[in-house]
Amino acid sequence: MSTLPSLIDAFGRPVRDLRISITDRCNFRCVYCMPKTVFGRDYPFLPRAELLSFEEITRITRRFAARGVRKIRLTGGEPLLRHGMEELVEMLAAIPDLEVTLTTNGSLLERKAALLRSAGLARVTVSLDALDDATFKRMNDADYPVAKVLAGIEAAAHAGLRPVKVNCVVKRGMNDDQIVPLARHFRHTGHILRFIEYMDVGSSNGWKLDEVVPSAEVLRRIGEHFPIEPIDPNYPGEVAQRWRYLDGAGEIGVISSVTRAFCDSCTRIRLSTEGQLYTCLFASSGHDLRVLLRSGADDAALDAAIESIWQQRTDRYSQLRMAATPNLKKIEMSYIGG
Ligand code: SAM
Ligand code: SF4
Ligand code: SF4
Repeated sequence: MSTLPSLIDAFGRPVRDLRISITDRCNFRCVYCMPKTVFGRDYPFLPRAELLSFEEITRITRRFAARGVRKIRLTGGEPLLRHGMEELVEMLAAIPDLEVTLTTNGSLLERKAALLRSAGLARVTVSLDALDDATFKRMNDADYPVAKVLAGIEAAAHAGLRPVKVNCVVKRGMNDDQIVPLARHFRHTGHILRFIEYMDVGSSNGWKLDEVVPSAEVLRRIGEHFPIEPIDPNYPGEVAQRWRYLDGAGEIGVISSVTRAFCDSCTRIRLSTEGQLYTCLFASSGHDLRVLLRSGADDAALDAAIESIWQQRTDRYSQLRMAATPNLKKIEMSYIGG
């Protein structure tokens, strides 16, 4: 594969991670992401022809891999709902020097884990916001037992997708009473539980700052039951801050997107289901790569487009959040991919 010079944005940040939303549909209706009031029965999800094909996704990924991208995260919507997505995993995993990972709500993971592993998936992150069925249902507005998600996590670990990361978005008054039970449950399992601050992504979740539970509070609450200490990041610019239990029961993490923005080291770019490229989770508009692909652009034209988009990037929304932009129209997480 040809390798072109690394791409650097206007603030000196390289492009390293490509997050690809492979469907805008989901079988859950999490209150912080796709609330039923907005994403109801008549919501106009994208028709099939609008979606990038697996070949189109693979072609774009190759161009990014040539410019320094080393990690792909498949997301959505719920990525396991996209028919035959393990074929896409196989196509992407065949690109040299690229790690293919997945974020899922875990509902279909139990039956897919082994297939995904043999297709070349490297790791998986499973979202799980509660251990208690009633709270889980309040968070995702779908009647789905926690036990099935836990079975998906075990199946993934068993298939070799270790360590499994488990992400919990904490919303005050909704699931913050689940912090300690989740911590207790995942101690000694080898899975890495991470707590994410509830973010103001999109416009449909009615975000309010007082519903954010700061990571410092999450750590304090866990520390009252199980003493913890901070540990070094795995690599510079790692998004999660890592902590470990003093008694050797394992590791946890916190992702403090609201209280401790990490834009300075942000190397992520996002490709939407229909081929719009977004240089920030909070971008209000994207760049249409699908129109380029479908008008017969060659690799050089694709490279030039990607180069110009990344080189002009000045995004640092989380750092600016408190200062301005509250009224900007933002793209929904389920469309752009988390
Ligand atoms: N459906 C999959 C899932 O839930 O894992 C993948 C897509 S989901 C959009 C990706 C991640 O974004 C999930 O871990 C979810 O909890 C997180 N997320 C969605 N909306 C969020 C918000 N407003 N604040 C923080 N995290 C959010
Ligand atoms: Fe679906 Fe994931 Fe959004 Fe929940 S967070 S509604 S599971 S896409
Ligand atoms: Fe990256 Fe934008 Fe998030 Fe900052 S706000 S960390 S630039 S995606």
